[in-house]
Amino acid sequence: MTEQNRVAIVTGAARGIGAATAIRLAADGFAVAVIDLEEAAGKDTVEKITAAGGRAIAVGADVSNGEQVAAAVERVVAELGAPVVLVNNAGVLRDNLLFKMSESDWDTVMNVHLKGAFLMSKACQKHMVDAGYGRIVNLSSSSALGNRGQANYSAAKAGLQGFTKTLSKELGKFGITANAVAPGFIATDMTAATAERVGMGFEEFKAAAATMIPVNRVGVPDDIAHTVSFLVSEGAGFVSGQVIYVAGGPLD
Ligand code: NAP
Repeated sequence: MTEQNRVAIVTGAARGIGAATAIRLAADGFAVAVIDLEEAAGKDTVEKITAAGGRAIAVGADVSNGEQVAAAVERVVAELGAPVVLVNNAGVLRDNLLFKMSESDWDTVMNVHLKGAFLMSKACQKHMVDAGYGRIVNLSSSSALGNRGQANYSAAKAGLQGFTKTLSKELGKFGITANAVAPGFIATDMTAATAERVGMGFEEFKAAAATMIPVNRVGVPDDIAHTVSFLVSEGAGFVSGQVIYVAGGPLD
């Protein structure tokens, strides 16, 4: 990797884990493309990066739409350069018990997490193969091990682990690693929405979660950004096809 091609794409980077990761990768020296559904939503992350002396652009794209993904990656190549790092972070929840889960709840979650990671990885890998270097990180979840009310989400997050391992096997010979980070409870708008759904205040919800976490606190987006920063570093080239649970302790 040369100084010229230190370009990273982070999807779903308007807020939460994606925003923290984009800001961290910019601090690590990457020019960062902040992809989110709406270009305007990514401006805040971009402003934080540029205020700290970094380089970033906001790009609007739905990662589950092939045409939008192709256009977004083309724009990144034109404005920042070819990406050597891709963090597939965009995500949505459509939680419900199986008997109440609609077909559209299922499809939406599969499309954003799984199809989105597939489309983005496919669009970016050719640039990484050309460079003979790349780092792909997919956001899985502790829910991949099974979680009540999340038949769709847990299936998608477990699917991303298989996807990650396959990418590591196919792309390794081109200098590309693929790993998954599986967060436990991280305080973001996503977990705040879950608190609301179960009828609890967010502070009360976080405190209850912390009692079940060995390090006695819930996670923050920077916990995940730090792990991603390691996985996309040049020195992590022999770490591939792994799933790293970042959950404040071991999981059952
Ligand atoms: P978040 O705060 O809800 O942020 C997710 C971001 O993804 C939002 O900016 C959202 O845009 C964007 N997004 C959604 N659908 C998209 C699409 N089709 N195309 C482009 N962007 C899209 O979530 P988070 O908590 O930071 O989670 C980030 C990732 O970590 C997700 O994959 C999540 O499943 C995973 N994760 C989170 C936790 C946790 O405890 N928070 C735990 C395990 C795994 P809008 O705002 O427009 O919807």
